[in-house]
Amino acid sequence: MRDENCIFCKIMEGAIPSRTIYEDEDFKVILDASPASRGHALILPKEHCANIYEISEELLAKAAKLAKKLSAHMKEVLQCDGLNLLQNNGEVAGQTVFHFHMHLIPRYVGMKNNDLLNWTHEEFTAEEQDEICSKLQIKA
Ligand code: 5GP
Ligand code: ZN
Repeated sequence: MRDENCIFCKIMEGAIPSRTIYEDEDFKVILDASPASRGHALILPKEHCANIYEISEELLAKAAKLAKKLSAHMKEVLQCDGLNLLQNNGEVAGQTVFHFHMHLIPRYVGMKNNDLLNWTHEEFTAEEQDEICSKLQIKA
């Protein structure tokens, strides 16, 4: 399924060029055009789904498996010192392309964007945390 207004669907069709590092029947993995670090890549499902809410459990599980495989590959080939997996859902969460994707961001000691994911913690009272916790608890 393709969305004709979607940049990543266009990449999938070859209508927009990309640097591909991996491809199988379900995914294409490309280098990010505006990389946060050397080797920053994006796992893209071939099927158009906007976000975590739309992707099937089965496809998400396959994406996670692929992330594991590529993380090991990046560590070996790039000699990176760490790696972030990042997956944004919704504009407020920083999503700019509304076709599900997983960022693989290799991290290097001393790299330019070392504060990439630095956030300061928000204060909640113990009562608020208890309330949030009970609201979120879900049966296995
Ligand atoms: P998001 O902010 O939605 O999680 O991430 C979207 C990512 O897609 C950004 O890091 C951005 O640099 C990348 N991107 C946007 N357009 C293109 C493109 O045409 N080609 C490639 N390779 N990456 C793109
Ligand atoms: Zn798409």
